[in-house]
Amino acid sequence: MEPVALRVLPGIDRLHLAELALPAWHPRAADGVGLVLGYVVHHPDGPIVVDTGVGRGSDLIDELYRPTVHDLVARLAEVGVDERDVAAVVCSHLHFDHCGQNASLRAPVHVQAAERVAAVAPHYTVPEWAALPEERWRVANGDVELADGVRIVATPGHTPGHQSVVVTGGDEVVVLAGQCAYTAAEFAGGTVPVEDVHDPSWHASALDSLRRLRSLQPARVVFAHDAAEVTA
Ligand SMILES: [Zn+2]
Repeated sequence: MEPVALRVLPGIDRLHLAELALPAWHPRAADGVGLVLGYVVHHPDGPIVVDTGVGRGSDLIDELYRPTVHDLVARLAEVGVDERDVAAVVCSHLHFDHCGQNASLRAPVHVQAAERVAAVAPHYTVPEWAALPEERWRVANGDVELADGVRIVATPGHTPGHQSVVVTGGDEVVVLAGQCAYTAAEFAGGTVPVEDVHDPSWHASALDSLRRLRSLQPARVVFAHDAAEVTA
């Protein structure tokens, strides 16, 4: 069956979820502060949350990143969303700064199978934040039609199971790229620094994923770590 597009693009709000103090060894240390952003798509069938930011209570993360954590539920309320109404959560990947507040919501959480496998490795994430009761997971191998006009697209590279969200309404396409690119400028330039990929063997995949998203000719692209956007 052909995917159903929406006649009108739903509203998409940015959720400012955390700031991190980037340590000297971090590839983006020169930035000083790392911004952590999630998004909510105000879909007619119920809000869809993309990435849930940093959690609380990890001594390791507190020590490494001295995070300022903002409450996901409060951020949702600011844009008119009651957390009990959230229809679906999409985690672009399971690093600690993208799944940290999954437990604050009740909705199913969509991930790639490859990401769940990757997340079991030591030092990959905060295991407690990447863990959920089994019934909340929705695990995919590749692309998924999540709702009318909303497609999850597998974009491996930054991690083995990274995924992005593509929203289509009318003639417009909006891409929620997650960490497929770290910055809007890199997306626009079609580049991914090798330090941003899972390991160097994933660099070609990362570039393929970026090409795939760019080929959709999106009117707007938003990112997990950059408040700047790419617009057509
Ligand atoms: Zn990451």
